[in-house]
Formats: sequence, C-alpha cells, structure tokens
Amino acid sequence: MQGIHSLKILFISTSVAPLGSGIGGGVELTILNLSNELKKRGYQTDILAPIGSVLEGQNIIRIEGNLQPKAQYQSRTDLPASPDNSVLSNMCKYANQNQSQYDLIVNFSYDWLPLYLTPSFKTPLLHFISMSSLNDAIDFEIKRVASRFPNRLSCNTHSQASTFPVPEKFTVLGKGIDLAKYQYCENPEDYFTWVGRISREKGLEDAVEAADMTSLKLVVLGKKEDPVYWNEIMMKYPHTDMNYAGFLQTEKMQGILGKSRALIMTPRWIEAFGNVIIEALACGVPVISYRIGGPSEIIEDKVTGFLAKPGNIPEIANYMKMIDQIDRNMCRQTALKNYTLEAWCDRFEQWIFRSLDKDRLTIL
Ligand code: UDP
Repeated sequence: MQGIHSLKILFISTSVAPLGSGIGGGVELTILNLSNELKKRGYQTDILAPIGSVLEGQNIIRIEGNLQPKAQYQSRTDLPASPDNSVLSNMCKYANQNQSQYDLIVNFSYDWLPLYLTPSFKTPLLHFISMSSLNDAIDFEIKRVASRFPNRLSCNTHSQASTFPVPEKFTVLGKGIDLAKYQYCENPEDYFTWVGRISREKGLEDAVEAADMTSLKLVVLGKKEDPVYWNEIMMKYPHTDMNYAGFLQTEKMQGILGKSRALIMTPRWIEAFGNVIIEALACGVPVISYRIGGPSEIIEDKVTGFLAKPGNIPEIANYMKMIDQIDRNMCRQTALKNYTLEAWCDRFEQWIFRSLDKDRLTIL
C-alpha cells in the first residue's frame, strides 16, 4: 500500500515552446507553482518539456523534436497537426516507455495526441485542459476520454468548461499562486498595465485604443509572440502614451504591475482563466476586463475591478477614469481568500485521488 503523498507524478508540459520562453503563456507558471507545492507535500514530480526549457528548481526531462503549432492559430475544423519528428510525439513516447516509474501522468499540452493515447497507458493519464474549446478534433477526443475514464479531465473555470461538449465531466480547479511573491501596493503610480502574450487572441489593441481615448499611460509587459501584430498596433496608435517593458520574470513583472492603477485585460477569445488577473489582485491592483470567460468569474464587478461588454472599448476607457472607486485592499484580500496556492493544490490532490484506483492508495 502506498501513501498518497509519496506519489511520483510525471507532467507532460506544453509542446508549443520551451518552458521559460513566455510563449507557452500561463501554463509555465501553472506547472511551476503546482510542482513546487506538490513537492512541499512530499510528492515527486518530473516534467517532460521541449529542449531549451528552464523552470527554477524543477526536475525537467528535456525532449528533442519540432514544436507543435498552437491550437489558437489553427481553425476549428483543422485536422490534428503532426510535424516531422514532433516533440509532442516524442514526449508521449517517453511517457509511455517510462510509465511504470510513475503513479500517474498529468498532461498540460492542449493537443489531440495525448488525449487520443489515454487508453494506451496503463498508468493513469490525466488531462489539465488549459484553454477553451478551439478545435473539433480535440473536442471529440475530450468527449471520448470523458466517456471511458471518469475524473480524468480538469480545467480552470466553469466558463471554460461550458465551451466543451461535456462541461459536466470537468473538475473545475480554479487557480492559485504563491502570494508571498507579490507585494501589496497601496498607492499606485500614474499608469495602467496590460500583461500577456502579444498575440491577436489576447487583444492588446483594445487596451491601446482605450489608453488612446483617455490619454492615460499604458505600460505593456509580455512576450512579443506575434511581431507583425505588434507593428500593426504601433502603426495604428503612434501617439498613444505607451511603454513596452519587455517580458520579465515574476519578481520584476509584479514590481511594475503592482504599482499600476489597474490591469487592463482585453481578450478576443474566451479566456480560460487569466493568471495575470490573480497576479494583479495579489498586488492590490484592480482589473478592468470583459464580461466573458475567466475574467467574468474572477473579477467582481465594481468591487475588484470593472467588467465591460466584450469589445466595448469606450466602456473600458470610461472604467479607466473611474478606477479610484475600487478599494485596492479589497483586491489583495480577495487574492488571499480565493487564490492561495495551498487551496488550489488541495483541489488538485482531490482530483487526482478521485481519478486513481482508490484500492492502491491510503491517504496519510
Ligand atoms: N508573464 C510573465 N512576464 C511578463 C508577462 C507575463 O511572467 O512579462 C506571465 C504571467 O505571469 C502569466 C502568463 O505570462 O503567468 C500569462 O498567462 P495568462 O494565463 O494570463 O494568459 P495565457 O498566456 O495563458 O493566455
């Protein structure tokens, strides 16, 4: 009999970019936080990730091969992509060949292949689905996993789950962060922030347009994933008061985010969660976003920020002018109450325990 806290877990990370590059988005911080907290609790974690991956303090097994195209750049009806010598296939192969060393495998890669391979693993293969529904072939496999294996699917929010054909089959885990890494700032400086991957689905242009309308300063942080998109924005808004501060590590990033008057988050897709929202709240920074997806579940309208009708940029601009009505301490308190790493990891543990054969385990 084995104690649950001594489980050995293999994570299959994103296959679209090396961890630490910023291109994988929120999944990088998600894996780092979860692995750190699980290790604190006595679990062992190994992380399969593309060559070049760096994640502080983690045991990374680096796998070679060509990166997978991002699902958000493909159409809903596109068939699963499989590049020559695909890093995702190589990670799945490694996981399959070494599965007997692990008690369970958790896949974070938003792709068809690991879902399709679920029945071929003897060691339970679980899936954390990190984005909303984007592709019919992936949806189909999600449905298949759900019908054959109860409790193998989890995701971030109810809004995200509702985009899939089997919303009731998901365990909704929410998210948590290491709040000690985020400093509360009572008195902000005179600028707003936008933080994220600079890529069309993240909708930076809406925030820039709102800054342009209000003549308020915007500081942009994050990886320039789509330089063409960035240049288009620069050409369209040449006179906006805007600074690009680069892609920064959490410590520096929160230093700039934390001193801002508000985070502006203007996604063009159904955001599955939005790590940056809880990172902002942790610093006492209110969030102005659209009433859809993760932001609509995390932000309490008029309490921890403002929610505008999706795509309504004048409304975003108006809320920027009203931001002093929000109590920054309330934002920090909300993070302390709802988004601790410990509570999130508790939910993760409950999920994996439900998915495993309980006879093999005793809870310590
Ligand atoms: N991020 C960062 N440094 C930056 C900008 C962003 O570390 O300069 C991280 C941020 O901490 C967050 C992630 O990028 O974890 C973005 O994740 P989010 O869930 O907000 O969006 P996604 O990219 O997954 O769509």
